[in-house]
Amino acid sequence: GKGLLPADFYSFEEMLTDSEREKIERVREFLATQAAPLVDDYWARAEFPFQLVEGFGRLGLVDWADPDSAESKPSNLLSGFLALEFAHADASLATFSGVHTGLAMGSILACGSEEQKRRWLPAMSRFEKIGAFGLTEPHGGSDVAGGLRTTARRDGDGWVLDGAKRWIGNATFADLVVIWARDTETNHVLGFVVEKDTPGFTATKIENKMALRIVQNADIVLDGCRVPEANRLQNANSFKDTAGILRQTRSGVAWQAVGVMFGAYEIALQYAKEREQFGRPIGGFQLVQDLLVKMLGNATASCGMVTRLAQLQDAGIYRDEHSALAKAYCTVRMRESVGWARELLAGNGIILDYKVGRFVADAEALYSYEGTREIQTLIVGRAVTDGLSAFVK
Ligand code: FAD
Repeated sequence: GKGLLPADFYSFEEMLTDSEREKIERVREFLATQAAPLVDDYWARAEFPFQLVEGFGRLGLVDWADPDSAESKPSNLLSGFLALEFAHADASLATFSGVHTGLAMGSILACGSEEQKRRWLPAMSRFEKIGAFGLTEPHGGSDVAGGLRTTARRDGDGWVLDGAKRWIGNATFADLVVIWARDTETNHVLGFVVEKDTPGFTATKIENKMALRIVQNADIVLDGCRVPEANRLQNANSFKDTAGILRQTRSGVAWQAVGVMFGAYEIALQYAKEREQFGRPIGGFQLVQDLLVKMLGNATASCGMVTRLAQLQDAGIYRDEHSALAKAYCTVRMRESVGWARELLAGNGIILDYKVGRFVADAEALYSYEGTREIQTLIVGRAVTDGLSAFVK
């Protein structure tokens, strides 16, 4: 145990405590032995490896979220390293886990009543019930605060949801889907937990994706979908509450981007040492070393950034613009780095067997989801100009 990843050039992982590092080791072992052998095949077929879900539960990553658990919430630094570790193995599995734990469970943790937490979180924390998070709509995801069209109409002791959602990860099989909808009376955005098989709810798999093919994204239709008041997240009162969840999960995507950079660098490094041209390993050529060192620089700078971000989170003093900058910066560096890794593998860089191709494709989704680079930029731009908002219509 206790080996560092080859890309962890500055030994960032050593900032974790011994028991935190043991958790990372357990996850690393699970991913290497159980997940890694499956991902290329499932990615190629755009299927989800359900046989891994029980193992995810056994890792105990979110046991702390069970209201009856004695465990306390892990540090943001540990959560970040866990996201890194998943993405280092496979960005799709990192996304599956991020959607379930960060977005779906995160919504219930942040906006659910005590009763709602007790009702849903125990099974979710063990991955026995899987969650999804339905915010984006077919007409667009960037203007989601002002442009959200799905409606919630109060009707007796419940609510009727009408509208459509797009891109919703895990939703084809999720037991619980958090749906964000606009109250027809107050115009405020509210959150609802829609349980599987609720009449009026349908989720159709989006086919032919060229990225994160293991993640099952869905188009959702809500057609007179009736949910009881008990399923309305009691502490979600406006889009501000939704934004608070995204602030957390966006920093998670920045960590995932670091994981992808670490993974792609490792593959490139190994290949550079083994592949021979002109009678010697290509890793001995200056131009190949240049690619490796640029990748290592991107990964190290980004890891430093998210590490400090996690410290700000742990201190409770981070703001939307902090996670927005990290999400934008790290995904740009990731996109550049996976391109260099692919360049280093040349022809083999475009074939799934050599794994870099999967990272290149998956990077495109991380780059755009949870808010595009442009949107993150406008969040940071507004903050640094003391509120000159480019969002104002
Ligand atoms: P658009 O909003 O149509 O944007 C198109 C382009 O216009 C982008 O380049 C954008 O940056 C640019 N643009 C828009 N406004 C501005 C502006 N003011 N200034 C400059 N440029 C601008 N959503 C969920 O709710 N739940 C999920 O589980 C989920 N999972 C996803 C998984 C995948 C694989 C993908 C691809 C998406 C997922 N999403 C999910 C949706 C994701 O968050 C959106 O795709 C994203 O927010 C961008 O929205 P859009 O694709 O509709 O692009």
